Amino acid sequence: MQQFDYIIVGQGIAGSLLAYQLIKADKQVLILNDETLPTSSAVAGGIFNPITGKNLDKTWLADTLFPFFKAFSLSLEKETHTSFYHETNLFRPYANEQQRKHFLKLTDEYDLDRYIRLVKPEAYSEIENPLGGLYTSSAGWVDVPVMLEALKQFFLQKATYQPEKFDYQALEISKNSVAYKGFKAAKIVFCEGYYASQNPYFKWLPFNPAKGETLIATIDNYSIKEIVNQGSWIIPLGDQQFRFGSTYIWNQLDWQTTDESKEAISSKIDKFLKLPYQIIDQQAGIRPTTKDRRPFLGNHPAYANVYVFNGLGTKGVSLAPYFAQEMLFFLEKQKDLMPESNIQRFYSLYSL
Ligand SMILES: Cc1cc2nc3c(=O)[nH]c(=O)nc-3n(C[C@H](O)[C@H](O)[C@H](O)COP(=O)(O)OP(=O)(O)OC[C@H]3O[C@@H](n4cnc5c(N)ncnc54)[C@H](O)[C@@H]3O)c2cc1C
Repeated sequence: MQQFDYIIVGQGIAGSLLAYQLIKADKQVLILNDETLPTSSAVAGGIFNPITGKNLDKTWLADTLFPFFKAFSLSLEKETHTSFYHETNLFRPYANEQQRKHFLKLTDEYDLDRYIRLVKPEAYSEIENPLGGLYTSSAGWVDVPVMLEALKQFFLQKATYQPEKFDYQALEISKNSVAYKGFKAAKIVFCEGYYASQNPYFKWLPFNPAKGETLIATIDNYSIKEIVNQGSWIIPLGDQQFRFGSTYIWNQLDWQTTDESKEAISSKIDKFLKLPYQIIDQQAGIRPTTKDRRPFLGNHPAYANVYVFNGLGTKGVSLAPYFAQEMLFFLEKQKDLMPESNIQRFYSLYSL
């Protein structure tokens, strides 16, 4: 039997970043990933943004997550000779006078100077912004498919990577190890995103999955480098291609694109984009969001060597590097997990 320290199930953002950090810590890792499944990571807008929402809320742990995430991404780019981290920053035109006043009041009240700067009216000619808007720094987007492909190539060189569907029935758990087909490992970590709903060990966790769709479009003569966000967003992807997004749907959890979502996104974009565009693609995915909007990290309540790293929700890109490290320290250094992310908070929901 081939021996490993860890089996990781899933090579989305969660599984990839955890496997990477374990390999960097000199652990022997086997990655099992079903490449035939559609995934959330493959369609993510990849936006990272420290200040979000109608009330300019600072993202949970922003002051810790964002510097960590940036340093991690730049170092991974260097190591893999790829480019996926795009710090473009973000522009939010005020939708109306009421919103302008509301935002100005919030920027005065909260200490947001580190992230926010006010932009004068008419700063951008391709979009409606008669009142000006807010410019957020430390924001941008990650090209998630490029990052994950680079990590897959890294795994093919440094670890054992198998493109296969994990069969839960074939897992044998004993006191100090797990066995799966011809493989044996000290520990197994499940990172299947939305598909955790089919995992007999972790399907009891309170997920609240949200389907989302995005559009890919071309726009001639659009030169704005920042992400623009006003209800819907436009990300400049390069080569005159742009991603528009996104929708949130909780009651129809499938991976199909719909005309309703296309219309919902386009109608919001039409409100502020002055230029014509052509939609060339549409994508759908299911975010592994959780009821309390915090990730799921930790140990199975009944099996000491079975773990989960999931629940990255709407912010997988900025959460994953930091929480993969939290998971590494928990697994290897017995460091306590942050209570807000530890699945111990839901142990009362588990029954054998
Ligand atoms: C439309 C949309 C827009 C988004 N925009 C953003 C954004 O702008 N910014 C942001 O930070 N986040 C965004 N997200 C969220 C982000 O995509 C997720 O947080 C993140 O991708 C989740 O990663 P994951 O690894 O947990 O899951 P996934 O990416 O779904 O990966 C799970 C992996 O597990 C594998 N797997 C599952 N079951 C098995 C099995 N039985 N055997 C083997 N392999 C298995 C799958 O094949 C897959 O590779 C968006 C999501 C959507 C849908």
